[in-house]
Amino acid sequence: MLKTKYKAIFRCMDCNSEFSLDEILFRCPKCNGLLDVVHDIDAIQETSPLEWKQIFESRFRQAKHPYSSGVWGKKEWVLPELHEDHIVSLGEGGTPLVPVPRFSKKLNLENLWIKQCGISHTGSFKDLGMTVLVSKVKELIEKGKYIKAISCASTGDTSAALASYASYANIPVLIFLPKDRISLAQLIQPIANGAYVFSIDTDFDGCMKIVQEITSNPENGIYLANSMNPLRIEGQKTVGIEVIQQLGWYVPDWFLIPGGNLGNVSALVEGFKLLYETKIISKIPRVAVAQSHNANPFYKSYLNRFLSFEPVQAKKTLASAIQIGNPVSFKRAKRALEYCNGVVEEVTEEELANTSAYLDTFGMFTDPHTGVALASLIKLKQKGIIEEKETVVVISTAHGLKFVEFKVQYHKKELPNIHSQYVNQPIMIEPEITKIQEKIQQLFS
Ligand SMILES: [Zn+2]
Repeated sequence: MLKTKYKAIFRCMDCNSEFSLDEILFRCPKCNGLLDVVHDIDAIQETSPLEWKQIFESRFRQAKHPYSSGVWGKKEWVLPELHEDHIVSLGEGGTPLVPVPRFSKKLNLENLWIKQCGISHTGSFKDLGMTVLVSKVKELIEKGKYIKAISCASTGDTSAALASYASYANIPVLIFLPKDRISLAQLIQPIANGAYVFSIDTDFDGCMKIVQEITSNPENGIYLANSMNPLRIEGQKTVGIEVIQQLGWYVPDWFLIPGGNLGNVSALVEGFKLLYETKIISKIPRVAVAQSHNANPFYKSYLNRFLSFEPVQAKKTLASAIQIGNPVSFKRAKRALEYCNGVVEEVTEEELANTSAYLDTFGMFTDPHTGVALASLIKLKQKGIIEEKETVVVISTAHGLKFVEFKVQYHKKELPNIHSQYVNQPIMIEPEITKIQEKIQQLFS
C-alpha cells in the first residue's frame, strides 16, 4: 500500500479560492462559482506511470474490499485523505467493456466498444460518484460536522444511487422527484431503501431549485448530493481511466456520452487529464456529448461556439434522465469539451428509440440514454466527424431493465409519434405440439 502523501482540496473555477475538503461547501462561498476537487499533481507524479499502471491493475476486480471497487482501486486519485474506515462501497465500477463487432460493421466502424456502466449496484453509472460523496459525508459526520440528512433532486438514477449508498451508511435521505416523470423502477428504488421521497408536480429543474434552497442554509444540516457537488465528479471520473485501463492503456479516439446536467462529461475529461499529466497516456481522446432534441441547451450553445448559453424549457423525452433544460455543470462541461476538442450532437425521439431497439437485436439491452449516444454516433459517422478507422467507446449510463415500460411500449408500437422499426412480439399459440412444430418450421423456412 502507498503512503497517504496524496492530497486534494476544493478550488473555485472562477476566483481560484481554495478550501479544505472538510468544509461543507457546494459552491464557492466568495463568488458562488462552481468548485473543483484539485489533486496535488506533483505528489501523484512522484510515482512513475509504470508503477501507477501496476497498482491499478493489481487491484482491479480482485483486491480485497473496498479496493476491488473500480472507484476505490484508484483512491489516491479520488479522495486520497479519506480514512479507509469511512469508505461506503457497494462494489461499484469494474463494469464490462464489451466490443460489438457485428453492430459496428453495420455502422462501418472498425472498432466500437460499449462501456456497460449500468451493470452496477443500482443499475446506473451514478453509483461511481455516489460512493465518493456518501463516503465523504460519513467522514464529515464522524468528525462532528452537523449533517442530519443528504438530499438530491433527481430524474431517477441519482436518487436510486443516493438512497442506496446512504441507507447502507445509515444516513437519512430526502429525495425530490418530478411527479410522473420517472420510470417505475427508478421510483421504487429509493422507496425500498426507506428514503423520504417527495413527488412534486414540477420538472427536474423545478426540483433542483427546491433542493438548492433547502440545502443552502447550513443550519438545516441538509447536505446536497447533486452533481453541482464536485465530490461526485471524483468518482465518476474513474470511468474514463477504467476504460483506458481495460483497453490495455490504449487511448481510443472517441468517447460518446449522453448529456443532461453535464457533470458526467466534465468527469470523463478530468480522468483523462490525470492520465495525461502522469504521462500514462500521450493523447487526449475526443468526447461527443449526445443530447435529446427535446432537451438540448448544450447543443444549442455548441452551435454558437459556446459564446452564449440559454437555458431551455426541457420537453418530454424518452431519455427522461437527461430531460434537463438548465444544466448546473454547463461551465464545467464547456471547459471539458474545449480541452478535449469535443463535439455535441442531438437526436430525435424516433432516432433514439429505434437505435436503442436496433442495438438490442445484437444481444444488448439498451436504455434510452444510451440510445441517444448511439444515434448521435451514427449521425457523427455520417457527417464524417467520426471516421471508419477510429476507435469509439460509447458510455452506456444505465441498465435497460430500469426502462422496461419504454421497451414494452416500443415493441407494442405504443410510443406516441414513433414508428417502431424493430418490433418483436410474443407468438400467441395453443398448447399443441403439432401447431408449435408447424410454426417453428414456418419461422425457419
Ligand atoms: Zn469563487
